Amino acid sequence: MEFKELELTEEVLRAVEEMGFAEATEIQAKSIPLIQSGADVIGKSNTGTGKTAAFGIPAIESISHERNGVEVLILCPTRELAMQACDEIRKFSKYMNWVKPCAVYGGASMDRQIIDIKRGANIVVGTPGRVMDHMRRRTLKLQNLKMIILDEADEMLNMGFREDIECILQEVPEERQTILFSATMPPAIMAITNQYQKDPQLIKIDQKYRTVDTIDQYYFEIPSGMKMEAMQYLLLAYEPKASMIFCNTKKMVDDLTETLTSKGFKAAGLHGDMKQTQRTYVMDKFKSGKINILIATDVAARGIDVSGIDVVFNFDLPQDNEYYIHRIGRTGRAGKSGTAYTLISNRKQIYDLKALSRYIKAEIKEKELPEKNDIINNKISKVVNKITAASQQTLKDETDIIFGILTAEGYSAEQIAKILINLRINKELRNIPEFEIPKVKKYVSKSTGKLTKSKSAKIEISAGKSNRIAPNFILGALVEATGMQGKNFGKIEIFDKYSTVEVPQADLEFIIDAMDNTKVNGKKVTVKLCERKSQEKSKEKSKDKPRFGRSRDSHEGSRRNDSSRRKGSSHKKRKSSK
Ligand code: ADP
Ligand code: MG
Repeated sequence: MEFKELELTEEVLRAVEEMGFAEATEIQAKSIPLIQSGADVIGKSNTGTGKTAAFGIPAIESISHERNGVEVLILCPTRELAMQACDEIRKFSKYMNWVKPCAVYGGASMDRQIIDIKRGANIVVGTPGRVMDHMRRRTLKLQNLKMIILDEADEMLNMGFREDIECILQEVPEERQTILFSATMPPAIMAITNQYQKDPQLIKIDQKYRTVDTIDQYYFEIPSGMKMEAMQYLLLAYEPKASMIFCNTKKMVDDLTETLTSKGFKAAGLHGDMKQTQRTYVMDKFKSGKINILIATDVAARGIDVSGIDVVFNFDLPQDNEYYIHRIGRTGRAGKSGTAYTLISNRKQIYDLKALSRYIKAEIKEKELPEKNDIINNKISKVVNKITAASQQTLKDETDIIFGILTAEGYSAEQIAKILINLRINKELRNIPEFEIPKVKKYVSKSTGKLTKSKSAKIEISAGKSNRIAPNFILGALVEATGMQGKNFGKIEIFDKYSTVEVPQADLEFIIDAMDNTKVNGKKVTVKLCERKSQEKSKEKSKDKPRFGRSRDSHEGSRRNDSSRRKGSSHKKRKSSK
């Protein structure tokens, strides 16, 4: 649908046209008229679908010409998002001088914001914490508020803003419109909706329009401990115009930033420990192209919208599937294409990646890490191409002068050419790293697409016949816990008090980690490597009644080895962070 078909004022239409928007996105086409009708609205739509305009346009259209104080309040999860939404709203209202947007967020001067509000701001865009601050100090008065908008509501709850949000919702006038946008609809969001919205209209944008559809997604298997090196290869080989690299921790952002800048890449880091001024400085440099690689954590980069990001790298596999979608949504904005690469460095991550791929209903293809020689050859042919292209142009006089000087030194024309080409190539190759990255043994077979076979091992699960366990329960629990397919598991034997399963040796640790402390048919189980002799087992199997005081009881008490326990806790962390 075109913007012209929506009932918008001339001023807005002109501004939107100048911004290069022709067609309204689906969420815009649906929510603009609905919000204008005065209804409370819930918009469920993914990142990059144009939500800012979806609520921003009806918001500015609702602003009165009188000086009524703040009429619209927009809450966003982070300072960057608040600034970004405010900037966009300023653009929409370019020809409406009575609309005065103002952003308020933590980490910046309170006084400055107070001045902005006092100058007659009628749209305030802010983070819940800072908005609360201003409300408490009475520097932000909301008695004339007509509309409150919660942008990225799920993320605001994730970030612990629930209390602030509820407090704000309770303090604003009863007679107001409440609009809520969220990518997901967990129960906590539904609770807010039930309590604070009146007869809300739901607009749900179908999954099939997910931004990820326009993004080519690949992964690389990197030998363990070589991700930093691999990252350099990838940047050199693909030469993205502008890219974002996501890491799971602030420390990793710092380390990677340091490595890449020391190797001559134009990179900078962005994370929550940095001061607001620093963050703004980095974002400005990235937006203006002075740096072209932004390395960030999920929270810092949430919703950042910089046009022209052609590649997103997941240096670490994200801790949450939704994070993956948000991350790669930094490219492929507004229907443009983009590429996302994910670095995988152990076998467990392959399962996580497969689960992720099922979750987003998109294929993430394997790709070979570029080889050093290919990178070098590419750079050389680039130089050759440049020379060939330049030879078509007429040469300037100074070329003759340089040529004259060098021939006077006694060089032949051929020598001069060699020297110049060499200098040029060396310049091009100066960032090529010394190291080589060895090939990894593939986790997934190229020809069959299945996980590569490995020797089998046996695990023991502390539930058996006496717990009314059948093989299909065990298999179901394994598939559930590991994300692996049933066919990866071998023989399952059920004994009186325990069961054994043949599993691929290479996945042993991962499977034990994933299964330990889970429930099978309602019974919480411990899982360990099976160390019984087969004889002992066959005796056990032959009898049905439970026996007491058997020697195997000592096995049951035995502890798993340390490394699997360590990994076990990290696995759980991943799960619980969802
Ligand atoms: P979301 O909040 O859903 O993640 P944004 O509002 O940040 O999405 O919009 C994503 C990008 O798409 C922004 O750069 C925005 O300017 C652009 N955009 C939004 N609507 C349109 C449109 N109708 N046509 C073209 N570009 C658009
Ligand atoms: Mg947004």
